[in-house]
Amino acid sequence: MIPYGRQDITQEDIDAVVAVLRSDFLTQGPCVPAFETAVARHVGAAHGVAVNSATSALHIACLALGLGPGDWLWTTPITFVASANCGLYCGAQIDFADIDPRTYNLCPQALEEKLLAAQAAGRLPKVLVAVHLCGQPCDMEAIHALGQRFGFRIIEDASHAIGGKYKGEFIGSGRYSDITVFSFHPVKIVTTAEGGMAVTNDPQLAEKMALLRSHGITRDPQQMTHPADGPWYYQQIDLGFNYRMTELQAALGISQMQRLDQYVARRHKLAIRYDNLLAALPVTRPWQHPDSYSGLHLYVIRLQLDQIGKSHLEVFESLRQQGIGVNLHYIPVHLQPYCQAMGFKRGDYPEAERYYEEAISLPMFQTMGLDQQDAVLAALRNTLIA
Ligand SMILES: *Cc1c(COP(=O)(O)O)cnc(C)c1O
Repeated sequence: MIPYGRQDITQEDIDAVVAVLRSDFLTQGPCVPAFETAVARHVGAAHGVAVNSATSALHIACLALGLGPGDWLWTTPITFVASANCGLYCGAQIDFADIDPRTYNLCPQALEEKLLAAQAAGRLPKVLVAVHLCGQPCDMEAIHALGQRFGFRIIEDASHAIGGKYKGEFIGSGRYSDITVFSFHPVKIVTTAEGGMAVTNDPQLAEKMALLRSHGITRDPQQMTHPADGPWYYQQIDLGFNYRMTELQAALGISQMQRLDQYVARRHKLAIRYDNLLAALPVTRPWQHPDSYSGLHLYVIRLQLDQIGKSHLEVFESLRQQGIGVNLHYIPVHLQPYCQAMGFKRGDYPEAERYYEEAISLPMFQTMGLDQQDAVLAALRNTLIA
């Protein structure tokens, strides 16, 4: 089976992790801050806070922005459930705005209409999570302008988008948001096995997130409410968690980061080749925004079902039977039973639901060979025009 995504682990990666195993610190040593610096510097952010997953990063990002009971968090329905769950962890309520049928990202017009209605009803969101689906940045300029106008804060969920650019700047530079979150799960572009990071230019947000990642405990006398009792002393000044990243993960991340630009370039090469090879097939290829450079975590096609004598499910199953590990990103979050129990209904977000009826993620990973890509093509041709 050709997987839809797969990590690339080199001998240097292995050596870096083994060196940590032989060192004094398996956690809370020098690698985590070095990894934070490496990522923050690469993307052009002032601060990085490494944690054990992007889900944890989203949670502490929401808390740092003051999200709590009585507040609303909005996001897109076409994302992984974690982009919405972070709001629920904080006791806030969640809601969605529909996607743009061309980019599959949050649609600024749909968002604006919904904000106007929410304003009239007195329930504007406190936080918006903008997800850069497949690695293609959202229309952040428009979303940021709406944030200024309606008074909400912005988290970029860039789990798919590390190494990508928006209007010439790396995603994570923070020009149009408060906090950007990356995931280092093995299917993502850079991996630490499990892991995530929140980057920001705001030193207070960074300090708050660093505190929340480790029990709300500080050893910094400046943060303490009264002088330390002695050299053993630490103080819990907030309710935090154990969301720490290990030294092994950070060492792997530092090693992987050196290949980030190369990884994204390879993904672009594969995407351009897919674009050409798929041109004659009854599928819609991913539209790329001229102002942006996608991280290209995923390559999603949409089936032109009126031109194919098979259903979406039949096409999917036929590709899997031919050894192509296609996938579907994502089941609209509002259609999940957990969300339906909150009152969301089928029909709430028609563009997202239409996308779900047609989308298929083709294999896309940095070590994918052109022969593997040819095999994907042959299987698609076989399924769609046979
Ligand atoms: C993978 C992913 C997450 C969660 O990442 P973890 O590191 O697995 O917690 C969140 N949002 C999106 C869009 C993702 O793709």
